[in-house]
Amino acid sequence: MKLAKFRNQEGRIYTISEAGIRELAENLSKKHDVYGPVNTHDEAVFSKFRFKIIEQGDKLELHYPITTIPPTKYFFPSRETILEFGSETHTPTHPHTHKPIVIFGISLFDLKAINRLDKIFGEPIQDEIYGANRKRAILISISEDFDPKGLAFDIHFRKIGQNKYIAWVGSKSGQKIIDQSSILCTKTKDIKKKYKPSKKYSRPERAEIIAGAKDDPIWDKLAKICFGCGICSYVCPMCYCFDTEDVVKIEGITKCQGCRERRWDSCMNADFAAISSHDFRPELKDRIYNWYHHKFVRMPAEHGFSGCVGCKRCITYCPAKINFRETLEYLEKKYG
Ligand code: SF4
Ligand code: SF4
Repeated sequence: MKLAKFRNQEGRIYTISEAGIRELAENLSKKHDVYGPVNTHDEAVFSKFRFKIIEQGDKLELHYPITTIPPTKYFFPSRETILEFGSETHTPTHPHTHKPIVIFGISLFDLKAINRLDKIFGEPIQDEIYGANRKRAILISISEDFDPKGLAFDIHFRKIGQNKYIAWVGSKSGQKIIDQSSILCTKTKDIKKKYKPSKKYSRPERAEIIAGAKDDPIWDKLAKICFGCGICSYVCPMCYCFDTEDVVKIEGITKCQGCRERRWDSCMNADFAAISSHDFRPELKDRIYNWYHHKFVRMPAEHGFSGCVGCKRCITYCPAKINFRETLEYLEKKYG
């Protein structure tokens, strides 16, 4: 199954006010489940901004720095049942029947991550669970400074002045939403520029440096301060490793029932690379090296882009205050 193709963003644009954007979200919430960034005013655990269900437009946070967990959680949740079974039966529980959802107010970082995950989960074979979750979602993104060059979306709002945004239409679903909200939007001239898809990752020297730096003392140094907690993966919109586990209930001697769950995993976790009789990455320094190697060596080679969109969540929430950019700078200065 392939996800629906988006049109490139050469299409129509409209102007809309901030109040119009809020009203649009509220109107959509009458027909769909709309999720958007909300200020919870709760700073006890990580960021106070979180994606939550939106029923009133004034609850939507349009100017937020970062949410702790990215909106990729709607396509690749932390825990998801993928199969239910009895003693002699099994039924896949793919969410094909779930109703459409709207994800409103996605940042450009997260929109870029969703575009990249679409490719990772879509090629060479579509991951059906991700695909089903993704296909039912309408993406509405927002930015203050940059255009959504080469990215797929349904509608994108770009701030162009005090209380004024342009609304770019990126798909038929987006056009339908705009057409139904004509009272809020004013059509303007079509965009002249036609954006090409994003360029291929162009940091071959970085990949080469990391690939050749496995024995550098930096990994030992990081392992002395890193807790191996996996937070840097769990908050990252580009980390997508998972494990599956069967949760079984036994009834009597022969009857059983249960479900198979897919759960987030992190290559930083102690048992991530443990198989039945061997752990091929038992040392933390090797797991740390693998985190960098996957993001900046293997992903560029496999997909043409890195495993980082620059959102800084891993830096913000690392309890050991490890900044991966400092590691990259150190390596590039030493070997570049
Ligand atoms: S969040 Fe920080 S301490 Fe935890 S595994 Fe990642 S780098 Fe190590
Ligand atoms: S900055 Fe960190 S959390 Fe954000 S995409 Fe890059 S590696 Fe992931």
